[in-house]
Amino acid sequence: MKGGAKVVIEKHRHEGVFIAKGKDDALVTRNMDPGNSVYGEKRISVEEGDKKVEYRVWNPFRSKLAAAIVGGVENIYIKPGSKLLYLGAASGTTVSHCSDVVGPTGTVYAVEFSHRSGRDLIGVAKKRTNIIPIVEDARYPLKYRMLVGMVDVIFADVAQPDQARIVGLNAQYFLKNGGHFVISIKANCIDSTSPAEAVFASEIKKLQGMDFKPDEYVTLEPYERDHAVVVGVYRAPKDGKDAGADNSTASAAKKDKKEKKAVAMEED
Ligand code: SAM
Repeated sequence: MKGGAKVVIEKHRHEGVFIAKGKDDALVTRNMDPGNSVYGEKRISVEEGDKKVEYRVWNPFRSKLAAAIVGGVENIYIKPGSKLLYLGAASGTTVSHCSDVVGPTGTVYAVEFSHRSGRDLIGVAKKRTNIIPIVEDARYPLKYRMLVGMVDVIFADVAQPDQARIVGLNAQYFLKNGGHFVISIKANCIDSTSPAEAVFASEIKKLQGMDFKPDEYVTLEPYERDHAVVVGVYRAPKDGKDAGADNSTASAAKKDKKEKKAVAMEED
């Protein structure tokens, strides 16, 4: 699809994400692999100066991360240059947009245990060199420790009852101290008998018990029913287990500030 004169691309508040302003506004990312779509999504080509740049439409009905962005989440922490560990990559739909967002200087380590989806994911990664596809069970991070470096952010969308534990395990191995997490929670995957809000609250409590400090959460209506995305910061215990700890003063000050915000959230 040609953007032509009718479409104007504007930067979104989240770095690396854009809005295509035309007849209908659309969330878009800048295509790392111009000329190709990943899952049949629309592409918009616009002239920027003397060159053509291509963007891909990011549909919030097909991606929980896009739904959280459109739903007004304050921070996603996934930005150009980020190292991202993505748990529950499926065929690579949202992973491909994360690949656009982090760009050539970032990396997306994409973990998926279904071999069928894993095949598609590997196909996506062939064209996008910043994606490292890992077809393994995220419950066993030791199996892929040789492939993954320390990361800035973990995004999790495994839709499993033990998701909080899975994220905790992966954070212990791979998430920088002071790094961030973005977790999608599907209430009925965790407990189909309790109201969604109660499930979100209990998941947040579990995360708080594992050195995660949730800062905010957004529900994903109208794009997904009974789903929420929780975002926050990770603080590893001070007993030396935090191999990738960043102990700079600036980072410590930042972490303290975040912690206060999280505490305020707990008290609300
Ligand atoms: N995030 C994907 C997207 O937006 O395109 C959709 C993910 S789908 C809701 C959940 C995925 O997590 C499924 O593909 C499933 O196979 C995968 N999954 C579930 N448990 C897993 C585990 N323990 N390790 C790795 N992948 C897992």
